[in-house]
Amino acid sequence: MTHTRTALVVGGGTAGSALAVLLRRAGIAVDLVEAKADWNATTGSGITLQGNALRVLREIGVLEQVSAHGFSSDGVTIVAPDGTEIFTQQDVRTGGDDLPSTVGMQRPALQRILIEAVRASGTRVRLGCTIDRLTQDARGVDVSLTDGTAGRYDLVVAADGLNSRTRELIGVTDKPAPTGMAIWRTPAPLPAGVTRTHLAYGGPAYIAGFCPTSDTTVYAYLVEPNRDRASIDPASYAEEMRRAAEGYGGFWDEIRASITDPAQVNYTWFDRHLVEGAWHRGRVVLVGDAAHACPPTLAQGAAMSLEGVSVLAELLSAHEAWDDELLTAYRDRRMPRVRMVVDASVQIGQWQLDGVRDAGVPGLMGRTLNALKELP
Ligand SMILES: Cc1cc2nc3c(=O)[nH]c(=O)nc-3n(C[C@H](O)[C@H](O)[C@H](O)COP(=O)(O)OP(=O)(O)OC[C@H]3O[C@@H](n4cnc5c(N)ncnc54)[C@H](O)[C@@H]3O)c2cc1C
Repeated sequence: MTHTRTALVVGGGTAGSALAVLLRRAGIAVDLVEAKADWNATTGSGITLQGNALRVLREIGVLEQVSAHGFSSDGVTIVAPDGTEIFTQQDVRTGGDDLPSTVGMQRPALQRILIEAVRASGTRVRLGCTIDRLTQDARGVDVSLTDGTAGRYDLVVAADGLNSRTRELIGVTDKPAPTGMAIWRTPAPLPAGVTRTHLAYGGPAYIAGFCPTSDTTVYAYLVEPNRDRASIDPASYAEEMRRAAEGYGGFWDEIRASITDPAQVNYTWFDRHLVEGAWHRGRVVLVGDAAHACPPTLAQGAAMSLEGVSVLAELLSAHEAWDDELLTAYRDRRMPRVRMVVDASVQIGQWQLDGVRDAGVPGLMGRTLNALKELP
């Protein structure tokens, strides 16, 4: 009898959930442990899923639900701080011409769709649980979990995000670094007449924008220099975001007035992260933000994570030996593309931080997004 291969996925975010579905499809027995008891299905603002992210969501079989719950669009309107429309540009269809450029979504809606797909895949899920300890030999990984259980797996995948504890457990020391910017984000009602993302570069914030996330909602955001988080009282988040939005007119008047609940407002720093060396140690491998992350100036973080999932699942499904060579091949295939996106995303923010007025932002964005039309 042939051995059914086994994998433990640590973290059930975008990357971990998508990977669990693809590994199950290949007949691999998958356990998934997720630290949050609510599996991140109840809170969160919005996300812009570009075509290359949609291409992977189609591969895992959830594109129809994503399209139904999100807001598809092919262009962005660039506006002056007072809301005056300057021009509308067609976005690059990074996922190919049969997919829209972007789908805006509420994060909890995306997460619920992924959760349903993971449940339907037959993955064994444990919530409010994580890895306590792991040891490995040439043939497998022994894991103790915080719920007191233990198991042995052919592979452990660290999909536990930017501050991955699994990454730390295997001795990968690369860590995210702040870029100097931070973002205020909130869901808000869709103002009548908004049919696509609006972006203002300049005004009191570096970027002020909003992206439709359904027929009734937008996700609004303002990017500023980062501040000591400890110095901002979470009870004042709504007030802080309204303050940051002062100086923006047009549809912002309506959005600003709707920002009243501090619990709906999120404040996050922008980080750069790229593990430069191997993305694995033995039979433990990094995927998604655990391996790489970028500021959302190109809205490509989840897209890069999903592409990495697709490549890793393809290699694990096609090859019998889950060895050093295979996991190195995964990292080598992903690295040039991920580096291009991380560097471009950071550069766009850096030009704003440096006040470079004649920066080549449209050119860099266009070159990077066009390159992503190639399959990963
Ligand atoms: C402000 C901001 C805006 C963004 N906007 C966009 C955008 O518009 N488009 C885009 O493509 N990308 C965007 N991104 C990037 C995107 O959010 C991430 O790249 C993506 O979520 C990475 O997915 P992941 O599964 O690797 O990590 P995560 O989504 O962070 O998931 C990690 C999961 O692991 C769980 N976890 C954490 N620690 C443990 C542990 N020890 N054990 C078990 N579970 C654990 C977490 O609860 C979580 O469920 C943005 C990022 C930021 C910061």
